[in-house]
Amino acid sequence: MAEKGTISIHTENIFPIIKKFLYSDHEIFLRELVSNAVDATQKLKRLSSLGELKEEIGDTTVEISFDKKKKTITIEDRGIGMTEEEIKKYINQIAFSGATEFVEKFKDKEDIQDIIGKFGLGFYSAFMVAKKVELISKSYQEGTTAAKWVCDGSTEFEISDADKKDRGTTVILHIADDSEEFLDEWRIKGILDKYCKFLPVPIKFGKTTESVEDGKDKDGKPKYKSVEKDRYINETEPLWTKSPSDLKDEDYIKFYKELYPMAEDPLFWIHLNVDYPFNLTGILYFPKVKNDFEVQKNKIQLYSRQVFITDEVKDVVPEFLMLLHGVIDSPDIPLNVSRSYLQSDSNVKKINSHITKKVADKLAELFKNDRKSYEEKWDDIGIFVKYGMLSEEKFYEKAKDFALFKNVDDKFFTFGEYEDAVKANQTDKDKNKIYLYTTDAGKQDTYIQSAKNKSYDVLLMDGPLDSHYVNFLEQKLEQTQLKRVDAETIDKIIDKDEKIDSVLTKEQEEKVKTIFEEAINNTSMTVSVESLSPDEMPVTITMSEFMRRMKDMSKMGGGGYAMMGNMPDQFNVSVNGNHPVVDKILKAKKAEKKSQLAKQAFDLAMLSQNMLTGKDLTNFIKRSVSLAAE
Ligand code: ADP
Repeated sequence: MAEKGTISIHTENIFPIIKKFLYSDHEIFLRELVSNAVDATQKLKRLSSLGELKEEIGDTTVEISFDKKKKTITIEDRGIGMTEEEIKKYINQIAFSGATEFVEKFKDKEDIQDIIGKFGLGFYSAFMVAKKVELISKSYQEGTTAAKWVCDGSTEFEISDADKKDRGTTVILHIADDSEEFLDEWRIKGILDKYCKFLPVPIKFGKTTESVEDGKDKDGKPKYKSVEKDRYINETEPLWTKSPSDLKDEDYIKFYKELYPMAEDPLFWIHLNVDYPFNLTGILYFPKVKNDFEVQKNKIQLYSRQVFITDEVKDVVPEFLMLLHGVIDSPDIPLNVSRSYLQSDSNVKKINSHITKKVADKLAELFKNDRKSYEEKWDDIGIFVKYGMLSEEKFYEKAKDFALFKNVDDKFFTFGEYEDAVKANQTDKDKNKIYLYTTDAGKQDTYIQSAKNKSYDVLLMDGPLDSHYVNFLEQKLEQTQLKRVDAETIDKIIDKDEKIDSVLTKEQEEKVKTIFEEAINNTSMTVSVESLSPDEMPVTITMSEFMRRMKDMSKMGGGGYAMMGNMPDQFNVSVNGNHPVVDKILKAKKAEKKSQLAKQAFDLAMLSQNMLTGKDLTNFIKRSVSLAAE
C-alpha cells in the first residue's frame, strides 16, 4: 500500500534552499551517502559480533554505479537496512528536535555548513544534485518487508512496499539537469578518491583493466591479456589504524608516498594514538622543509572515522605545526560547526596541546637517543623547534633542552652547553654574557675572523625566523645579549673594560676625525677615533645592534617601527687610532695625500662590508692602482 505524507519540518521548500546555499560544495553528497552506507554496514558488523544477526554477513562491499542514459547515480549497501517505520523515523523527520533552530539558522548563509550533520541533513544533501531520490531498503531484522521511499525534492514523499530480497539499502539519485557533470566516471571517481580512500568497508565503483599472464607464445615467452576487474576505491585498514608495534619504517615511508607522491622522504614521524580523554589517531610526518613555506602548509588531512573531511586543519593543529604532513583522525572533532566554535571547543584545545606535547616528546627522544643524526637533521628540524618556541610557551619549556645552536664551524650546542663554552671569554664588565652571531657568514667574514682572533665564538643565525629568534632568546636567556658580529668594533663588542692606550694625543684624534669626515663626506656615516689593537683593521664600519634590529622589525612590518624603515641607514665609522696608517696620514705633507689615504682606508672597510659599489668602487680601484705605483 502506497502512503503519502509530508516531511516533518517546519518550513516549506527546504530543498531549493539546500541546493542554493550549498553551492560550492555540491560534491559532498557522495561523501554523505557513502558514509551512511558504511555506517549501516559497521552497525551490522557490530550486531553480528554480538550474536544478534541470524544470517551470514556475506560480502558487505558498498557499490556505487551510474547510468548516463537514465541519469542516475546509485549507492547500494549490505548494511542493517531500514524497515518502513525506520525510514519514516530517520529519513522523514529532519531536524525533528531542532526544527525551530534550524529555520532560524537558515537566515544566515554562512552557517549552512553547520546545519548539515548537526541536524542529520547528511542524507538530504542528495538534493543538491538530484531532482528525485528513491530509497529502497530491507532491514536485517527477520520477518520485515522491504520498503521504498520516493521524494521529488518537495516536502512531499511517498512510501510503499518494495520488492527487494537482500538486506541493505539502495539509494537512487535522479540527477537534476544542472548537475549532469556528476554523471561522469572520472568525476565520480575523483570524489570517491578524495573522500572515501580510507573508509573501513570496501567501496566498489566501475571496472579497471589489468594485464595478466595468459600462457606462453611459441618461443616460450609469456603472453598477456587484458581482463576487466572490479575497481576498489579504498584501503580499508589505513596505516594509522594499525598498531605501531606491527609497523616498520618502510611501511610509514610507503604510506607517506601514497599521500604525497611527489614529496621527498620524510625526516621522521609520530604515530598518534589516544583514546582518553578524547579519541585521536593519526600519523604526523616531519617533511624536509624547503624555503617555500606556503607550499608545504595545509598538507595534513583530517578524517573522522576514516572519512576524509578537510585538509584545512588550522584550528586543530597548533599553528607552528602546520608544516607537518600526514593524517589526523578523530570522531571527537566537531566537523560541521563554525570556525569560531572550533577554536573554543575544549576537545580541540586538548587535541592541540596533546599534539604539541607529542611532538616535543618525539624531538626530545630523538635528541637523547641519537644526537648525531639529530644534529644532521637540525637544519630541517630547527625551523619547527624555533617556530614552536616562539609561539608556544609550553613548547619552549620542553624545547629549551633540545634546541641547538649552530656556530660558523658547524658545531652544535644546547643552550646549556653553549653557555658553558663561552662564558669565560665572552662575559662583559657588567657580567652579561655576549653571544655573537652572523646572519651571513660570507658577507660578514672579516668580522667573523676578527672575532675568532679573539677566540670568540660566532653563531649562525641565517634562517628565516632568526631575527625574531634572536630577540626572543635575549628575553629568555638569563643575563645574555646577542650581538651581530658587525655591531661594533671587535674590541668593543664585548666590553671588558680593558682599555688599550691610544698612541694619539687628544688633538691628533680630533685632527684625524676631521680628515676622515671630510674625505668620506657623507652624513649617514658617524666618524669616531678609537684606540684598538694595531692589528685590527684601520677602519671598521658598524651598525649598532639596536639600530639594525629596529630596521629589521620595520622591514617585517612590526607596527610601531614602521617609521624607522624610512630613515636612512646610519653607520658608525671607527677609525683605529693605533693603526700605522693613521700615523702615515698624520705625517703626510699634503692635505690631498691625507685625504687620499683616509678615503682608501674607508673604502677598504666599505669593501669588506660589501657596501662599495658603482662609482665609488671604480674610484677605489683607480686609487689603488695609483697608490701601488708610488
Ligand atoms: P546522520 O547520518 O547524520 O544521522 P542522515 O540524514 O545522513 O543523518 O541519516 C539519517 C539516518 O538515516 C541515519 O542516522 C540512519 O539511521 C539512517 N540511514 C541513512 N542512510 C542509511 C543507510 N544506507 N542504511 C541504513 N540506515 C540509513
